[in-house]
Amino acid sequence: MAVHQNKVTRSRRNMRRAHDALTAANPNECGNCGELKRPHHVCAACGHYDGREVVATADEVDLDDDAA
Ligand SMILES: [Zn+2]
Repeated sequence: MAVHQNKVTRSRRNMRRAHDALTAANPNECGNCGELKRPHHVCAACGHYDGREVVATADEVDLDDDAA
């Protein structure tokens, strides 16, 4: 098993961890439905991106429709 050559002091350990904080999410409002969504991502609520629908939402898909 590898063994540390030098003890990392509380000071050096904490200096290393000074950059470890997570940044808060920065949600935007969806332009179509107003739901909060991640910037540059398709809206999870309505499937719109950049003013048009790019993903069909589950309630719009008709599973009973016989496509085959
Ligand atoms: Zn939306």
